[in-house]
Amino acid sequence: MYKLETIISLAKRRGFVFQSSEIYGGLNGCWDYGPLGVELLLKIKDSWWKAMTFRDDIEGVDASILMHPRTWDASGHTKQFSDPMIDNKVSKARFRADNLIEEHIVKLRSKNKNDEAEAIEQKLANIKENNDYLTIILEHGIKDPVSGTVEWTEVRNFNLMFKTFIGPLEEASSVVYLRPESAQGIFVNFKNVAETARQKVPFGIAQIGKAFRNEINTKNFLFRTREFEQMEMQYFVKPGAELEWFDYWKKQRWQWYIDMGMDESKMRWKNHDKLAHYANHAVDIEFEFPFGWGEIEGIHSRTDFDLRNHQEFSGKKMEYVDAVNNERYLPFVVETSGGVSRGLMAFLCNAYSEEQVTDDKGNTEVRTILRFSPKLAPITAAVFPLVNKDGMPELAQSVYRDLQKSMKVQYDSSGAIGRRYRRQDEIGTPFCITIDGESLTENTVTIRERDSMKQDRISIDKIKNYISDKIY
Ligand code: ATP
Repeated sequence: MYKLETIISLAKRRGFVFQSSEIYGGLNGCWDYGPLGVELLLKIKDSWWKAMTFRDDIEGVDASILMHPRTWDASGHTKQFSDPMIDNKVSKARFRADNLIEEHIVKLRSKNKNDEAEAIEQKLANIKENNDYLTIILEHGIKDPVSGTVEWTEVRNFNLMFKTFIGPLEEASSVVYLRPESAQGIFVNFKNVAETARQKVPFGIAQIGKAFRNEINTKNFLFRTREFEQMEMQYFVKPGAELEWFDYWKKQRWQWYIDMGMDESKMRWKNHDKLAHYANHAVDIEFEFPFGWGEIEGIHSRTDFDLRNHQEFSGKKMEYVDAVNNERYLPFVVETSGGVSRGLMAFLCNAYSEEQVTDDKGNTEVRTILRFSPKLAPITAAVFPLVNKDGMPELAQSVYRDLQKSMKVQYDSSGAIGRRYRRQDEIGTPFCITIDGESLTENTVTIRERDSMKQDRISIDKIKNYISDKIY
């Protein structure tokens, strides 16, 4: 397992991710994606979008980030979307009370104090009110990691929605929220989509878009940020059919990560012991990050909670009319909800590796590689002239320009060929194409595969097919 710092440093050095507004010292919980990061983001989203919508029963939408404020009353976010927050009186540091306790449990386990860890876990599973967090914290002497003291305030609820105002007047009647999840944009459009796309239950609606949460503690790089992107799909089914579809979507989503190159041994299922107010079944797909296991996607059976509440709060009928069987009902919903940025971080950690290699002269060095699936690699191929003379650059340029019509390619003519390979390995480029002396007479190139470092000689007109065979 590599350290998170190593991966963050590569991400910055090679232009995947930068701190937001870095020249001003950064903005906590916000990140910018650089030239390679944005390519990776787009490829993740594109693969997800195709997996979801290149089928008969799923349509896409792109709903507005600002929604009518009643949406959040109906969804329960105005009242319930809060985390328990606690402050240390000495350091003034602020924590999520549940996270503080969970971190203490991890510490106890690392010291083999398993009995105490289990006892706290039991208590955590039975929390009824905020006071219970404080009781655990005080009973087990959980200290502030900053000041080392146990001088804690009460535990208070902190709503995670960002508030702003619509229009010129900053008054209560013009309050709107930045959406904390993209799902509600789908629920409110359920009837619009069903009718205009002439879809029949069961069918789904997919969306990729930004969401905002004023998280109490942001940490672990892209894992918990205040602005992030989600890829969500809500699948509407007849009540009673939800468990069957829940199992179906669990399998589909697991397989998608495998198809995108995720190492299955770094993934696991986590059942929710405590269900959210809207769910009757819920599981998470977790990934083993350098700092431990963390959720990358949730699959939730949300019953008819959302449609029912929107029907009640808006006064508009949200029922589905099944004309064939002459039935009317509010569909149940099975949702798949993944984070794009959290997914990107998981793919980055999954891909990172270092290995010892020996060159022709017997010197060993460390090769840093991002073993992205060719489907996700930010740069699909790199083209090199072996030397910058004898007509090689001209032919290399023409190969490069031709490939550029259908994929993201880089051209590199500087330094020894080994160095050029290393530069591409480090950003995960799966194919490096070299134009050499033989290319000029035989119209062939060498194409080197990143992981095996194996080289094939193929004719120039076969390059595109060679690459697309490995991608699709
Ligand atoms: P957590 O318990 O980690 O806060 P959650 O259970 O609140 O997550 P959901 O509301 O189910 O998460 O959101 C679905 C997905 O959106 C998550 O699996 C994650 O990939 C992503 N996500 C949620 N919150 C954040 C965040 N603050 N930063 C980045 N991604 C997030």
